[in-house]
Amino acid sequence: MTGAGTAGDRLSLEGKTAVVTGGARGIGRAVAIELARAGANLMITYRENKSLADAVSRDLRAQGVGVATSQVDVRKGSDLERMVEECRQTFGGLHILVNNAGMTADNLVMRLTEEAWDDVIETNLRGTFLATKAVLRPMVRARWGRIINMASVVGIAGNAGQANYAAAKAGLLGLTRSVALEVASRNITVNAVAPGFVLTDMTSKLSEEQKEAILGRIPMGRYAQPEEIAPLVAFLASDAAAYITGQTFNVDGGLVMA
Ligand code: NAP
Repeated sequence: MTGAGTAGDRLSLEGKTAVVTGGARGIGRAVAIELARAGANLMITYRENKSLADAVSRDLRAQGVGVATSQVDVRKGSDLERMVEECRQTFGGLHILVNNAGMTADNLVMRLTEEAWDDVIETNLRGTFLATKAVLRPMVRARWGRIINMASVVGIAGNAGQANYAAAKAGLLGLTRSVALEVASRNITVNAVAPGFVLTDMTSKLSEEQKEAILGRIPMGRYAQPEEIAPLVAFLASDAAAYITGQTFNVDGGLVMA
């Protein structure tokens, strides 16, 4: 029966295989570790940082879960199709997709190049579409699936200097809701997590002045650690979240409330 078992049982991801795109560093790494802690086997994708992906997979194997890595550029559908096939061969299928890979290329709109616009939309939005498209067939076959899209509060509130990124992340919210509607009857949920500002390589690029200004706007008065984003992802991936779909959840220290 749906909802049967203890709360602990329903949070377990044992027997499930999770893909985390860009899982070798930052938020993706923290998510991979959290999902492994809940018992999932992990497919960690990286684009450039093979050594970091190997290091994460060594750590995860020590937790007793199955781990594989794959070089995937989320802008390429063929990479994603190959990765899905690798999941099938290694783990017999896949159940959870965390669309975490993302990038920024900030500038004010008047100075924003077409290339910077395209790169950010292609990676954050089109990449999520391509990964989602690649995993849906095995999930439909399994009659169970979880897709969690890493959005951003910037996609909700906007941010000067990040029009391309805000547009991509806002687009993700529409994608999340639409796919959720398409697959709800198949026992597949699709949700978005919208972090505020998290201490990773992405935010380390901000100037001291920008960091100070952002800090002044966060009610909790501090940035998040990647490990503070990951537990919500693990919850949404679990059976305990079976009736939650098409939603966006902010994890932002109170930055955006609506
Ligand atoms: P990060 O430290 O810069 O890491 C970005 C990750 O994305 C890396 O693993 C990178 O892989 C991967 N990646 C980038 N382009 C890719 C591509 N074309 N194909 C495949 N992988 C690609 O970023 P982060 O802060 O952890 O961010 C993770 C996600 O959270 C992103 O979607 C980001 O937009 C979102 N987010 C971050 C914050 C924040 O404050 N940090 C706030 C809200 C939302 P390689 O290492 O192989 O290059």
